[in-house]
Amino acid sequence: MHQITVLEALHQARREIGDSDARMLVQHVLKVSHAHLIAHADQELNPEQARYFQLLVVRRFHGEPVAYLIGSREFYSLDFKVTPAVLIPRPETELLVDLALERIPANRPCKVLDLGTGSGAIAITIAKHRPLADIVAVDFSAAAAAVAKMNAEHLNADNVRIITSDWFHELAEQRFDLVVSNPPYIAEDDPHLTQGDLRFEPRKALTPGDNGLECIRFIVASACAHLVEGGALLLEHGYNQADVCRQLLSRADFGRVFSRPDLAGIMRVSGGVRGSFSREAVRI
Ligand code: GLN
Repeated sequence: MHQITVLEALHQARREIGDSDARMLVQHVLKVSHAHLIAHADQELNPEQARYFQLLVVRRFHGEPVAYLIGSREFYSLDFKVTPAVLIPRPETELLVDLALERIPANRPCKVLDLGTGSGAIAITIAKHRPLADIVAVDFSAAAAAVAKMNAEHLNADNVRIITSDWFHELAEQRFDLVVSNPPYIAEDDPHLTQGDLRFEPRKALTPGDNGLECIRFIVASACAHLVEGGALLLEHGYNQADVCRQLLSRADFGRVFSRPDLAGIMRVSGGVRGSFSREAVRI
């Protein structure tokens, strides 16, 4: 029986799905790197591999995200396991990590909290870049927390503790130097929720309902009680939520309030510092 080569499989798949999707699916089926695939385009898929590849192509054609089909997604050059219990890490969220790393000293301990950690991408990336930091990551979903734990183990991040908790609920009186979050923030009627990968992602992780601000409001209102004096809060938010986020932060008595754009030029992360001294710093 004729077995198909990598090149033939890619040609066939390209009639139904995108080039890079097809390539990632072949790599997954053959368990090889991109470099290997380029060097061995004439490698044959055995019948079982060919059938599995065909099945994945059909599922992709019907919209399932590549990350769920192959069970992983790269974030900040680290390989994260993902399942449909967690959001797929997105490139714009790397900005939140950049801003967090700017604020975490490399040479001394620092307590960091990640709210709504999902796959653990934010918490674990911070942990890998700041081995002296002590990181707590929480998620409301036990299934998501299980994925984050699997990632912490697989990436050897032993300075992250993952807890199932409804926001701050299980954290009692604990205070942190830095609180970060990529909460659900998409408005309930945003058409993006019915398009692309988002259709397959956990809805609760994408939208709190209504205008998308409920979780951000809650986090901003509750964060001061869990931050040390001078501690910072950093939040990822939607393309049109920077102004309201800064207002909420200022009203909650955060100082040095700011917003930063992602690589697409969209204001994507806002934050501020807890403490009265910081109000002075804003004026000068
Ligand atoms: N940035 C994601 C998107 O717009 C949403 C992530 C979130 O709601 N936290 O697809």
